[in-house]
Amino acid sequence: MAKKLLPSLKVQKQYIQDAKNYCDALKSSYVGRPGIPVKRIELIYSDLFQREYLVGFVDPRWLSSVASGCDAFATLSLEIGDLKSPPIVLVPSKKNLKKNSNLHSIVEHEFVHINQALKGHFPSSFEKSKVDLNEQFVDYVYAEYEANFLQLERWPKLGPPKSYELELKEWCFLRGYTQALERLLLVAIMEKFSDKNLFSTLNKIPKSLEKFLLKFDLETENTHRFIKKLKIFSFQALQMIVRADDLTTSQHLKYEKILKWIGSDFKPLPR
Ligand SMILES: [Zn+2]
Repeated sequence: MAKKLLPSLKVQKQYIQDAKNYCDALKSSYVGRPGIPVKRIELIYSDLFQREYLVGFVDPRWLSSVASGCDAFATLSLEIGDLKSPPIVLVPSKKNLKKNSNLHSIVEHEFVHINQALKGHFPSSFEKSKVDLNEQFVDYVYAEYEANFLQLERWPKLGPPKSYELELKEWCFLRGYTQALERLLLVAIMEKFSDKNLFSTLNKIPKSLEKFLLKFDLETENTHRFIKKLKIFSFQALQMIVRADDLTTSQHLKYEKILKWIGSDFKPLPR
């Protein structure tokens, strides 16, 4: 799977050149200046792909403000001043990648996303676009499935707890699916698309995931069971991504509509 994901040598060569140019420009104009989140920037060798990728070591507080709860994350571009990076992984500046095996494995997961970016299928951000929302959802599930699988096959320590009795591929599907759901619902609450678009997408998810299982040879009792739990997972996703008290009136309205779609079997637990 890892080899299949690599971009062509030509694309890779261009990426490395762009990354080097960005490093030089950033170092000479911004790194080390007050208020600049990037403390260090370099190309890091990937054990998974045997190629180099651009990594920015950033202020941990800044990182948690832009990606709360993430140990590292990949983005299509980091913009500082008038400089725009090629796809890049951001990690907290204080961490030593080589000494922290969990973080190392997470960074390799993010390198998978860089390859996806270079090949034009970086996980969607569910922005309004010409691409159908349901298609974006399935692509997101696949992108995360792929990144989780490549990461955990090589570094199983962060894999499914034994007591779950799940195969790795089932776990990776579950992670991709629930993560895509969290992202979709978060963007929906931030009012990026219409009710009609959101609810027709949510209703189409079971069918499109059944097709996904078939296409990637993932059909098992467990994966089918996960699809049936769409509303339970949606409810759990809501609990993860928002605190109802923090929402604006119109965001709260959307939140209520999603709860209504989930149905009366689930109610937020009293605090
Ligand atoms: Zn990921």
